[in-house]
Amino acid sequence: MPARCQAALRPERMHMLPRLSERCQQSLCGMERRRRVGWLAVDLAKMEAGVRLVLEGMGREHIQEEVWERTPKRVATMLAELCSGMGQSPEEQVGAVFQESYDEMIALKNIPFHSLCEHHLLPFVGRAGVVYVPRAGRVAGASKLARVVAVAAARPQLQERLTSQVADALMHRLAPYGLLVHMEAEHMCMSIRGVHAPGSRLVTSAIRGHLRTDAAARDEALALIRQS
Ligand SMILES: [Zn+2]
Repeated sequence: MPARCQAALRPERMHMLPRLSERCQQSLCGMERRRRVGWLAVDLAKMEAGVRLVLEGMGREHIQEEVWERTPKRVATMLAELCSGMGQSPEEQVGAVFQESYDEMIALKNIPFHSLCEHHLLPFVGRAGVVYVPRAGRVAGASKLARVVAVAAARPQLQERLTSQVADALMHRLAPYGLLVHMEAEHMCMSIRGVHAPGSRLVTSAIRGHLRTDAAARDEALALIRQS
């Protein structure tokens, strides 16, 4: 397995992705261009070639020269950014688990997220809410809950699977008594094409632990994260 390119793998350098990729291609760090770890788990050259084929299929004669030259790289870089969670584990985003003498519900609501529908490669955009009841005082940093959502969403996804993955990641790391993940999102593949239903939102939830059976607690959890 090749050594990691530390320069290329630093997330804060994501905006430099094409440049770093070219540098790596010149074998400065000895890495193959396709990254298999971290947020660079994509083949930019292959994606660029694919976009060029799409443009060609639309009719080369209708495409302006600047678009033909530069759009493939722009689109490939954009897709790499939107899929920057590939190769990252949502579970690892939980980070340190703190010990607090607190055993009431903890909720984070209105977490904005965006993902990419794996059927059409169009975005779906919405809000998520997470509620859990800690066991033995095991709590996560609030920002880490949003981070789990962001990383799980940053890949081609289904909203249903995304909701489950967020719940499972938090269950594994925190082992709470109960957990509820709620997501609402507008899917561009439904809004601007197909059925043309702008404004419609898909609602999904994943319920774990005692919230599955305790209706009163589940209602309380839902009330905490209801969209305002
Ligand atoms: Zn779709």
